[in-house]
Amino acid sequence: MPAPHPSPRPDGGVRPAAAPTDVHILWINAGLSCDGDSVSVTAAQQPALEDVVLQGIPGLPKIHLHNPVLATENGEEFLVPFRQAAKGELKEPYVLVVEGSIPNEKVKDEGYWAAWGEDPVTRQPILTTQWIDWLAPRSVATIAIGTCAAYGGIHGMAGNPTGCMGLADYLGWNWLSAGGLPVINIPGCPVQPDNFMETVTYLLYQVAGMAPIIPLDDKLRPTWLFGKTVHEGCDRAGYYEQSDFASEYGSPKCLVKLGCWGPVINCNVPKRGWMSGIGGCPNVGGICMACTMPGFPDKFMPFMDEPPGSAVSVAAGAAYGHAIRTLRALTNRAGNQEPRWRRRGPALTTGYTEPQGAAYPRH
Ligand code: SF4
Ligand code: SF4
Repeated sequence: MPAPHPSPRPDGGVRPAAAPTDVHILWINAGLSCDGDSVSVTAAQQPALEDVVLQGIPGLPKIHLHNPVLATENGEEFLVPFRQAAKGELKEPYVLVVEGSIPNEKVKDEGYWAAWGEDPVTRQPILTTQWIDWLAPRSVATIAIGTCAAYGGIHGMAGNPTGCMGLADYLGWNWLSAGGLPVINIPGCPVQPDNFMETVTYLLYQVAGMAPIIPLDDKLRPTWLFGKTVHEGCDRAGYYEQSDFASEYGSPKCLVKLGCWGPVINCNVPKRGWMSGIGGCPNVGGICMACTMPGFPDKFMPFMDEPPGSAVSVAAGAAYGHAIRTLRALTNRAGNQEPRWRRRGPALTTGYTEPQGAAYPRH
């Protein structure tokens, strides 16, 4: 695995002398992908894409979003800002968003793995990697959205013919944008929509000079989003703790024996939910298959088997899990009974002691 990213530039990275009034988001979905991240982001609410684009959030510059799935322009009209940026002629600063894994165009005999638009002179497709080479260095920030762009994802698994990789594998884990930032990874298959929008909003505030440099971990993920495990936010963690496991889907119990990797996976989805706080894989009955992780999918297959490490902790937990459940059942039964002094009769049985000199003695 690559070394941790370096500190941002000593000049403070993205902190323009005069905050820009307009910022473009140039979004390339021409890596190897399913466009699922573009679709996922339409569900964001914290904040919504519409709120950012329509200037509903105080302090943000005016945003010009150029995403091929969401655009009303098409063809050459859509490509205008990309061509301007590629030549260094786009007047306003831009954030580059890359969706999909990056193919290795050196490992083929002919043709291309991924391309976007065509060269106006040769009429040949322009490689996605060429666009990245043109656009990333001039960006104030470059974001890899989704696990494919971040780490290679499904397309990068063993046996794939494209040699594809994540954006930081392609540009370099020590690479810095014009804004002094490394590639910013927001993994997820697809990305959790609010994780992406929150990160973009943070960066836009940073570009406006209103936020400190974004904190990233050594896998280039925003620390506040990926610092906890799935297990730590899971609705089913109480079942795990007392070794009460589901043996089939449809059970409300812990899913670890069905293949859940939650205890060792960095992801906030069970805590955050998927849309409007609702959903989040194990919360709604699906095992965590580790889709946010750099080792996904190869290191977590086969998905439906009990994760190897968990067998040990589950076995250890089982030794005291039964005892804990028994004790808790007793406590639960006791808690379901009213206190014994609550009964009708001539005597007060609560243990109440009347203060001396009470104005209105009870007896
Ligand atoms: S379902 Fe998964 S994440 Fe939830 S408690 Fe069980 S092992 Fe942990
Ligand atoms: S809970 Fe697991 S499978 Fe679901 S989004 Fe997070 S890492 Fe992916």
